[in-house]
Amino acid sequence: MITEDDIVSESQRKFNLLDYSTEKMKTFFLEHGEKPFRAVQLIKWIHQQGVADFDQMTNLSKSLRTELQKIAEVRPPEVVTEQLSSDGTCKWLLRLEDGNCIEVVFIPESTRGTLCISSQVGCALDCTFCSTARQGFNRNLSVAEIIGQLWVAKNLLQKHPTEERVISNVVFMGMGEPLLNYNNVIDTIHLMLDDNAYGLSKRRVTVSTSGVVPALERLTDTVDIALAVSLHAPNNELRNKLVPLNNKYPIEVLLKACNRFLDKKAARERITMEYVLLDGVNDSDEHAYQLIKILKNTPSKINLIPFNPFPETRYKCSSQKRINRFHDILASAGVITMKRKTRGDDIDAACGQLAGKVNDKSKRESHFIRIEKNL
Ligand code: SAH
Repeated sequence: MITEDDIVSESQRKFNLLDYSTEKMKTFFLEHGEKPFRAVQLIKWIHQQGVADFDQMTNLSKSLRTELQKIAEVRPPEVVTEQLSSDGTCKWLLRLEDGNCIEVVFIPESTRGTLCISSQVGCALDCTFCSTARQGFNRNLSVAEIIGQLWVAKNLLQKHPTEERVISNVVFMGMGEPLLNYNNVIDTIHLMLDDNAYGLSKRRVTVSTSGVVPALERLTDTVDIALAVSLHAPNNELRNKLVPLNNKYPIEVLLKACNRFLDKKAARERITMEYVLLDGVNDSDEHAYQLIKILKNTPSKINLIPFNPFPETRYKCSSQKRINRFHDILASAGVITMKRKTRGDDIDAACGQLAGKVNDKSKRESHFIRIEKNL
């Protein structure tokens, strides 16, 4: 008799085709005696059309479909809950095969629709103002789990298609440090940019990093996409405290890598510098002047983010008056500065609030050292 356990283990033995970039899919097909153009057909079905059922893939031969059914499947993360904010922001809790959960947020705006995705379960860095850091670190997400967030969100949004429900932008600003899951993030980005898959514009896919410099150097030479840097402080003394990774890669080293990133491709005009305003910590006039000075030679756009509190945090959000003043100092020095609006407040979908459910392994230090060795 077939038990439920048998079914689960049977399904887990099958290849998850969401894990496959176009190149990897071509190799997979060649290994199974099929022509590489079949791989492109399959990529289109899975990612462009959002189809998981091989029977619906009508331009594949019946025998190929039967063969695929035996050995492979399209296995996205499972949607546990969907929450819709009064401002249109949508948040999904997704369960992974090992029971960990991650959150994905879609933010509709008048000119774009942005999906905020995660790259790790938890985070190995320990930024003091971030709630993901509080949860600890479990593991890297696979390609299937990262692209699966886009796959699921796109399919769910298309169930009730309107202009406001199109994903035009993807930002790696959910849980985790994308540059510490380098290979899987790069494979996923290739799928996002591939016209046979999602065909997103390279200016509309943004990797956000706390500043893992060796990986940033690799990224510069590998893909042409947009970059956001979580700066949050204008001097090393303060940044060492807020973003402890700064002890390893201080501001001047990080900005040098940023400049090389910008030099490499003419299409890259500026880097988005993220700056969470923390009351009485990094929001004084003096901090604004220091910021102008350090960014003098790095074409940037500064994104001022209101701090989103979470339980037991020691920080408070700067007052609106302070935020405005900080903004005005930067703007009058000619620095492009945006005040980011908080979205999805009523469903805890704002930056740094994505919680998910992390089974913390808390081996931050050893994990980080191991990853760094591979960079
Ligand atoms: N590890 C990456 C990506 C994840 S964080 C990075 O550091 O860039 C995405 C953005 O949310 C970062 O700029 C981060 O600093 C910001 N953020 C984290 N916690 C926050 C909070 N409590 N309030 C507002 N923004 C926060």
